[in-house]
Amino acid sequence: MSTSLTYLGGASEVGRVGAVLEGPEGRLLLDYGLQPDDPPKYPLPAPEVDALLLTHAHLDHCGLVPDIASRGTPIISTPVTGMLAERMAQDTLRVSEIENYQRPFHPSAIGDLRRNIRSIKPGNVEYRGGFEFNVFNAGHIPGAVMFNFPQQDFLFTGDIHTVDTQLTRAAKPHPCKTLAIESTYGGREHPNRRETESELVDSIEETVNSGGKVVLPSFGLGRSQELLMLVSNLGFEVWLDGMGRDMARIFQKFPGSIRDVGAMNKAYRRTNFVKHAGQRQAAMNGDIVVTTSGMLNGGPVLTYLSKIRNDPNSPAFGLDCNIESFDLSGHAGHTQIVDFINKCNPEKVILYHGDNREAFQEDLKDYELILPQETETIDIS
Ligand SMILES: [Zn+2]
Repeated sequence: MSTSLTYLGGASEVGRVGAVLEGPEGRLLLDYGLQPDDPPKYPLPAPEVDALLLTHAHLDHCGLVPDIASRGTPIISTPVTGMLAERMAQDTLRVSEIENYQRPFHPSAIGDLRRNIRSIKPGNVEYRGGFEFNVFNAGHIPGAVMFNFPQQDFLFTGDIHTVDTQLTRAAKPHPCKTLAIESTYGGREHPNRRETESELVDSIEETVNSGGKVVLPSFGLGRSQELLMLVSNLGFEVWLDGMGRDMARIFQKFPGSIRDVGAMNKAYRRTNFVKHAGQRQAAMNGDIVVTTSGMLNGGPVLTYLSKIRNDPNSPAFGLDCNIESFDLSGHAGHTQIVDFINKCNPEKVILYHGDNREAFQEDLKDYELILPQETETIDIS
């Protein structure tokens, strides 16, 4: 009997990932996320499965996991991912209420998620639904893993990054016959990370030293904490606001998920955490605020930007703010993905989680390349 993979979402687009791995003895769900658009988008409904395997705690991979947990289905993830996913779920309910969307799961599903999490760590082997599997570090955010199925010689990556970041260690390729890999950055490369980091630091120093204030809009899970590690030792007054505060505390509970936990804790000690909205003026009087949302489409960052524009003492009053962007992505770029695939040396490559997958066709012409659409079933054995 063969094994097959069917995407319920996140195949031909970035976001709302869900895939069903089906074998002769059972079925697994690999991630089950939502796309936080306006309104949110969901993957196709999931069948009954023996377990859900969660790669990491970004919403587009974990957003609907509570709904599956409420069926009593075991959720397999690293310990830090389990706790982060629970915090993300609380935020999903909060946003649904504020934005008046139909909530994607019942509030009681968060307790079900907590109860049904089964931890896995690199080095452990698990058996569910007739599948044996283990995990490897994925380098993307703390706790992120790839799932490896030795019997099928199949590796499912989730999101990956192949360079060390402040928070995480690079993902290492693993030989396999069939590789399902994210392709978010198809056709796009990242600048050298160390150079970007020093450009960011230079720009911040120049701004603050000339009397300005710096607001760093960033994703709360991963990028906020990484920015603290970059800016907290510059001698300026640094504040952290938004969901990144809670995520920062969760990371501290799982020191093994952090590349250099000493450096992270040092950065936190030098950072002022905004504990309630009343402290935002104090934060604004400091030099640097790191806050959500990274996309400027909600969250405390909007409060800070309006304060800068309306404060007659701010150097930006009556002027346009100076806006710069820096690429500190948590995803592998195009060439990094190609290198990773070459080192895994598979026969079959399934590219998913990308809206420009065709960009890989030339670089991957030596492989059996599959660009699945949602609902398409791929034979992987
Ligand atoms: Zn991600």
